[in-house]
Amino acid sequence: MDQTVIKYRHCGRDIYSFSCSNSHFNKQSDDLNRRECPICRHTLTFGLLDAPVAITCPFINAHKVSCAFIIGSVHGPSHLGEWHDTEIHVGLTNSQGLVYNYTLSGVQRDDRGWEQCVCVQLVPPWRHDLRDSWDRELNEFSLLPEWVSERFHEEREFGSCCYGFALTFINRMRSLDGKVPLSRDEFTGCHVLPRIKTVSTYINIYHTILQHGFYIADKLDNM
Ligand SMILES: [Zn+2]
Repeated sequence: MDQTVIKYRHCGRDIYSFSCSNSHFNKQSDDLNRRECPICRHTLTFGLLDAPVAITCPFINAHKVSCAFIIGSVHGPSHLGEWHDTEIHVGLTNSQGLVYNYTLSGVQRDDRGWEQCVCVQLVPPWRHDLRDSWDRELNEFSLLPEWVSERFHEEREFGSCCYGFALTFINRMRSLDGKVPLSRDEFTGCHVLPRIKTVSTYINIYHTILQHGFYIADKLDNM
């Protein structure tokens, strides 16, 4: 999913396509000005103030994000549009983008492999106090006997193991900051599901463009 998606308006609808090539209606030319509207078939002429807008890709390289909760999938980013515990794997980045994640072999510290993820930034940039203690706390936390590989399945009854690891750490940092802990449902509902919904819309648009060369938005789409 490495093409840039753009959005423009014609015939009163928002229309999405790739920024260049690969879409069936501009095979002859990559020139945006020679595209047709897929509804009225008129050649599109983009004038002042109606330049197509590039849609921000919701997948982020987690190794470039500090102090974040990240959601990845071993099957690639197109599997992140639905919230299936079996499909996803979650972790936490330290200030250097090193990803701590709990697996069958215990806690891993990955410096690669999380290049296309959904990221939830956890620490505001101006909270230097929290940022400064983050790495030390995360490292200490990851060494606790709770997270040895033998206990991986034991933890499963509390939900998926990797999720339990990440959320327990988030709650530990919240308690150091004088905040009440969040339940799994609260965290998922407030911080994860809205992002998964955006990702799901993006994936649907992307796959439709791959198939048909364009995507015509419903009133309900909001990208
Ligand atoms: Zn049109």
